[in-house]
Amino acid sequence: MWEPVIGLEIHAELSTSTKIFCGCSTEFGAEPNTLVCPVCSGMPGVLPRLNEAVAVYAVRLGLLLNCSINPNSVFDRKNYIYPDLPKSYQISQLYTPVCTDGKLEITSGGKTKIITIREIHIEEDAGKLIHDPLSGNTLMDFNRCGIPLVEIVTNPDFETAGEVAEFLENLKEILMYADICDCKMQEGSIRADINLSIRQKGGELGVRTEMKNLNSFKAIGRAVESETKRQTEIIESGGKITQETRRWDDNKQKSFSMRSKENANDYRYFPEPDMQPLIISDDMINGIKNTLPELGTQKRERYEKDWHIAKNDAEIITSHKNIATVFEELSEKSGSPSESANLITGEIMRLMNTHSIRPENLKVNCDKLSYLIKLEHSGKINGNSYKKTVAAVFKDNVEPDDYIMKHGLLMNSDNDAVSRAVKKVLSDNSVAADDYRNGKEKAFGFLMGAVMKELRGSGNPEIIRKSLTEILSNGDGRI
Ligand code: ADP
Ligand code: ZN
Ligand code: MG
Repeated sequence: MWEPVIGLEIHAELSTSTKIFCGCSTEFGAEPNTLVCPVCSGMPGVLPRLNEAVAVYAVRLGLLLNCSINPNSVFDRKNYIYPDLPKSYQISQLYTPVCTDGKLEITSGGKTKIITIREIHIEEDAGKLIHDPLSGNTLMDFNRCGIPLVEIVTNPDFETAGEVAEFLENLKEILMYADICDCKMQEGSIRADINLSIRQKGGELGVRTEMKNLNSFKAIGRAVESETKRQTEIIESGGKITQETRRWDDNKQKSFSMRSKENANDYRYFPEPDMQPLIISDDMINGIKNTLPELGTQKRERYEKDWHIAKNDAEIITSHKNIATVFEELSEKSGSPSESANLITGEIMRLMNTHSIRPENLKVNCDKLSYLIKLEHSGKINGNSYKKTVAAVFKDNVEPDDYIMKHGLLMNSDNDAVSRAVKKVLSDNSVAADDYRNGKEKAFGFLMGAVMKELRGSGNPEIIRKSLTEILSNGDGRI
């Protein structure tokens, strides 16, 4: 029985506002080649200078992944020629990475397991090549050159695609909550390469291939399955696996050989002569330790324990940091975490879905929404009007009071108005009224709805219920 063995190499772009060795902006999506300078476009004679935030983020991640922090790490020059690399070398860390020997716990298929992390090193990103199918030309955009990256390298500890996905989910959550990386897979902020070999259960490690171009968790699952099958077929038919880099094509659901795998000596690595060693003092480490942000797991615990939020809801809320931030602000401003949680897991999620808004782009006015939570809670508006006004605030950022007035949404608790509406509905719907009197419970709901409609959705459900029950049992309203 052949089983896969998998190790990951994950590149994460750091959320610094400027590049790793120069002051150019790291903004995504700018006009090509507008965020470049002599340093990041590789002009001769320029000198790199390390952005301190890069070291801080790398150490923060190292601490969160239980790594040892190297007090004295060194940069190395990795040489290769490719059109997206104007300097023809990349500054990286080969021999003494900034963090080593970490671990992260995962739970997959009901089993808890520790994945060990070999190292985290710092390096710079390369540019981007854009193949233009119309002209047949390849265009170069150097804006991404010099964006800071960390590369997280795990040991070959994974046995299933499920474990890989779970690890990436956990890692992504840490990167996002610690503000280290925005984790936008669609913008390439986080990229995972999969190293995979197969072996007989418990046997020696086999020759591995490396797969690139995996841009969703689903693609990763499919790639693991397909590569395991491909290698098994080769070995079972007497063949040998070649160590190589392969490109996953998710549309074709197949991987294709890109190049034979380079070894470190192909890159002629040598200590980067333009860089000083990176010295990380105990003071710096302690400073970073003392300001570690609250992570998703800690937030879930706190929401459940202190705020009595259901586990499921706490998971939905912490599925993205932005949502958790909105939730905390709403809870604080409205004074009611449970109603804030209901609003987010209900209406807000529904509205995000309807308007195709990604969590990272979620923007709501928490002052207005918390005001609405209070209005509903105090009985000034009913559930219907609450939802309508929430939607209007969400979509058009309306002023709640104006909107409520304009649409007549204040709860109608005027007993006379309600009983007039009840009488009208009963006379218009005598069949339903008789059905109810003859024991058809369901007819009551229908009549409630009709009265609410008569009051343009703003009736007080309790008063309607009372009035309807009273009038029906008095035999009133019968024609
Ligand atoms: P290289 O120096 O060629 O990049 P590394 O030793 O750095 O190779 O390993 C790169 C990645 O490959 C790591 O994530 C590691 O866990 C994984 N890996 C190494 N050997 C194997 C193997 N036999 N099967 C699966 N993954 C492996
Ligand atoms: Zn620059
Ligand atoms: Mg490597």
